[in-house]
Amino acid sequence: MSRLEGKIAIVTGASSGIGRAAALLFAREGAKVVVTARNENALAELADEIAREDGEAAALAGDVRDEALHEALVELAVRRFGGLDTAFNNAGALGAMGEISSLTIEGWRETLDTNLTSAFLAAKYQVPAIAARGGGSLTFTSSFVGHTAGFAGVAPYAAGKAGLIGLVQALAVELGARGIRVNALLPGGTDTPANFANLPGAAPETRGFVEGLHALKRIAQPEEIAEAALYLASDGASFVTGAALLADGGASVARG
Ligand code: NAP
Repeated sequence: MSRLEGKIAIVTGASSGIGRAAALLFAREGAKVVVTARNENALAELADEIAREDGEAAALAGDVRDEALHEALVELAVRRFGGLDTAFNNAGALGAMGEISSLTIEGWRETLDTNLTSAFLAAKYQVPAIAARGGGSLTFTSSFVGHTAGFAGVAPYAAGKAGLIGLVQALAVELGARGIRVNALLPGGTDTPANFANLPGAAPETRGFVEGLHALKRIAQPEEIAEAALYLASDGASFVTGAALLADGGASVARG
């Protein structure tokens, strides 16, 4: 059974990692996908891969901090595919890191713009289009970091990711009567360039440390997180809204 048959989706952060895996999975499950990120070449490659699998994708490169991008993505979904049913607003970045006194206001703002303000901008343009189809869903990629776990040196990122959960709760209530479900997806450590363990210059022992934080004693593959995003986007989650869905390999409950 194709779980997104006939649906039209936007996936942000689709050039890499979780977003790329989700775009491929959504297309395999029958969705027509509009994909975005800044890396135009990676997006074109993704769109080709989806086309080779007989899926349908449209790519538009841009920065999620740019309001005009969000308007253009929705316009593209409507013009090319006829509307919008679901959005996986997944783009994000660790951003400015360091001890609090060392952080600049520019770094703070940039990190919040990428991880949180981008979500506001996405919803602002996506909601009317989804409402015009009689309902649908929005999913935002948050993190266990900032919700069930604190780590030193990532205050702007943690604040942004925690802020998404507040946004999701407010929008779930605001939009429920219009048939729009709104959820946060909270991955645990995932094997992408954004993981602490894969950052340039990370100490070799960091990977073992990150794996050990999880009850499953490993980090996720992006495809495993994409499955959770698919669930939230699909009718299988028809009564799930306002949720913060942990797909964190037990990182939130592990104590050794
Ligand atoms: P990733 O492979 O680095 O992917 C991040 C994606 O976001 C890329 O496609 C990147 O594309 C895009 N992006 C970043 N800043 C952007 C900007 N300003 N404008 C447009 N696109 C932007 O990392 P990932 O792990 O898949 O990250 C996906 C989401 O999961 C993020 O929100 C991240 O915070 C969250 N997350 C990750 C982990 C983990 O351990 N990996 C854990 C919890 C949550 P371009 O660079 O091409 O623009």
